[in-house]
Amino acid sequence: MNILVVDDDRFIRDLVSAIITDAGHSPFTADGDTQAFEVLDRGLIDLVLMDVEMQGRNGFELTHDIRTKFSDHWFPIIFLSAVKDDSYYQQGIDAGGDDYLTKPVSPIILKAKIRAMERIANMKKDLDEANKRLATLSSTDALTQLSNRREMDKQLLREWKRCHREGFTLSAIMMDIDFFKPYNDNYGHQKGDECLQAVAKLVSKCVDRSHDLVARYGGEEFAIILPDTPISGTETVAKKVLETLQEAALPHEFSGAAEHVTVSMGISSTTFSPLNPKALLKQADAALYQAKEQGRNRFVVYSEQM
Ligand code: GH3
Ligand code: MG
Ligand code: MG
Ligand code: MG
Repeated sequence: MNILVVDDDRFIRDLVSAIITDAGHSPFTADGDTQAFEVLDRGLIDLVLMDVEMQGRNGFELTHDIRTKFSDHWFPIIFLSAVKDDSYYQQGIDAGGDDYLTKPVSPIILKAKIRAMERIANMKKDLDEANKRLATLSSTDALTQLSNRREMDKQLLREWKRCHREGFTLSAIMMDIDFFKPYNDNYGHQKGDECLQAVAKLVSKCVDRSHDLVARYGGEEFAIILPDTPISGTETVAKKVLETLQEAALPHEFSGAAEHVTVSMGISSTTFSPLNPKALLKQADAALYQAKEQGRNRFVVYSEQM
């Protein structure tokens, strides 16, 4: 572990550092708050041993500052203080510390505490990683690795609010693969899955801004959310999707629209004053229905008559 020793007494810093090195860890030192933050800001400290009585910010105050600043990144903090006083112990824990040892500190106890904290820190790390994996799993569609519908609804709501705040246009495309049932029925489900993966990749290539979102909305339906994009820009993206699929020419002998896999798309945008994100998608869906009616392999922009 990388262990930071914060103490205004150089003799103690050296002494504790020697114990840390002896225990097989790497010591870092700071004589007060300024140096402590310089080291912590580099983000490689796993444990802090903190003096209490110091010039400037004392150890309790500094611990409180550290917990506030690094609120989403926990590492253990152990106080090392000359004061043997119950109320000090309590203050230390309240400030965000995890344990309290009195000086002079026994090397055996300090090493044992470091081992105990290392165990907790490792469990915390495992838990954080598991949570991160879970978050990815619950927002990603397993087949295509695109965002799933849940994630799209979440992001759409966020962009919707941002759009209202900042006054930009938010557009959406609903997309559905044409004649996909005959594709599955004739080539088999496995090939159908592969086709969905291929289409997902090709469609993703058609958007490039960091806020754009391509999601698998359901079975063979995809959605694209384009924040800060007027209808003209959205039509450009839809044209690019049609061209990209045409160039890729994924064979589909059983399509009534073309000789390759094609999609139909419906476009809507906040310029049509939908009342909420759901209404925006509903408008895009109505336009998609028209695109199907008009012969597929095309896009249609929503209009009030729909
Ligand atoms: P249209 O041109 O009007 O869109 O007709 P379609 O055949 O594409 O539409 P329909 O809604 O009748 O059929 C959709 C088909 O999509 C049904 C199912 O076989 C297929 N499908 C949906 N989800 C999946 C999936 O996860 N994997 C596979 N392989 N097929 C899927
Ligand atoms: Mg001191
Ligand atoms: Mg469908
Ligand atoms: Mg379809």
